[in-house]
Amino acid sequence: MIYFDNNATTAPLPEVVEAVERTSRDVYANPSSVHQFGQQARHLVETARAQVAELVGARPADVIFTSGGTESINLALRSAVALHPQRQRIVTTTVEHSAVLQTCDALAAQGLEVAKVGVDEHGKYDQAALREALADEPALLSIQHANNETGVIQNVAETCASAREQGVIVHVDAVQSAGKIAVPCDQWQADFVSLSAHKFHGPKGIGALVVNRRATVQSIITGGSQERNRRGGTENVPGIVGMGVAAEHARRHQMESAETIGPLRDRFERGVLSAIDSAVVNGGAPRLFNTSNISFPQLQAEAILLLLSENGICASAGAACSSGSLEPSHVLLAMGMDVARAHGGVRFSLSRFNTEKEVDEVLDVLPGLIARLAGLSRSVETR
Ligand code: PLP
Repeated sequence: MIYFDNNATTAPLPEVVEAVERTSRDVYANPSSVHQFGQQARHLVETARAQVAELVGARPADVIFTSGGTESINLALRSAVALHPQRQRIVTTTVEHSAVLQTCDALAAQGLEVAKVGVDEHGKYDQAALREALADEPALLSIQHANNETGVIQNVAETCASAREQGVIVHVDAVQSAGKIAVPCDQWQADFVSLSAHKFHGPKGIGALVVNRRATVQSIITGGSQERNRRGGTENVPGIVGMGVAAEHARRHQMESAETIGPLRDRFERGVLSAIDSAVVNGGAPRLFNTSNISFPQLQAEAILLLLSENGICASAGAACSSGSLEPSHVLLAMGMDVARAHGGVRFSLSRFNTEKEVDEVLDVLPGLIARLAGLSRSVETR
């Protein structure tokens, strides 16, 4: 199997698997228990909190562990709105992940107004339009750092500064960027930043919301007083420990990963563009070094994915949750693409576990497969 679907999820590092297994087996105490065994579990949780904080330039006290990116996003958006009932507006963009868009839709159904700022053909949102939307005094601005489908990276620092000037709370969805590129919470001074461990070789079902010291959260999961009353429920200690190990590894190896994965992705992209005339890369610079979203216009991404899968190659179309659906990607459509190009958009996303040999194997298979599908669609058209 060749796994080029690392924006959907990544393989956990061997040291993560080992830490999760060891913690589950040996330190199963409840970290809220007063006995020494409980305090051993507490110590592991706090070590992981410091590791996650260090990855993103935050203070350990700012990190709330959650069940992943989706919960972090819900916590940020819902508590910002609940804490500012006098402001009945949210601003976001058209290319956000469904975790943000669907949460905004749910809040809109409760009566909130949601404004979505558009992007240009490169996938970048318009800073001027965003500043204009901020002037209407929304409760919250929710933006993405890097896009999960195209890898396009937004200028978050500039946006956070504009929002601060207007006194608007900011949430940054850094789920795709954390562990790959710098997520400098201390420079951004965003109120909330969402993270998810499984995107950087940690376990699934564990994430964090980084809450700036200025900001307050209102718990959406009520119960015990865990996470300083901000997220009830007994902590997922093995998951938290695994996330800490993955964060520590990502911090230490971030540069080296960029230097090895970037050239592999570029080799792949060059190979595809030179072998397949119709292929076009979606998304402008700057882009995540591991992501390549390529359209094969007039073809259906789902058909390409199935044939790739028959050849043992995993890739994706759109967000992980929507692969298999026939809808063209909302991100590609938001970039102004025609439906034929958006329908044929395939996302290839690499990780530190991919090799040059794998890139060359995919390049051996892909052109023939695209030619076959193009021939089939021509014969359907002429029939
Ligand atoms: N935000 C972005 C940009 C994502 O790519 C994802 C996952 O695909 C999420 C949020 C949701 O994260 P999780 O899968 O941890 O709930």
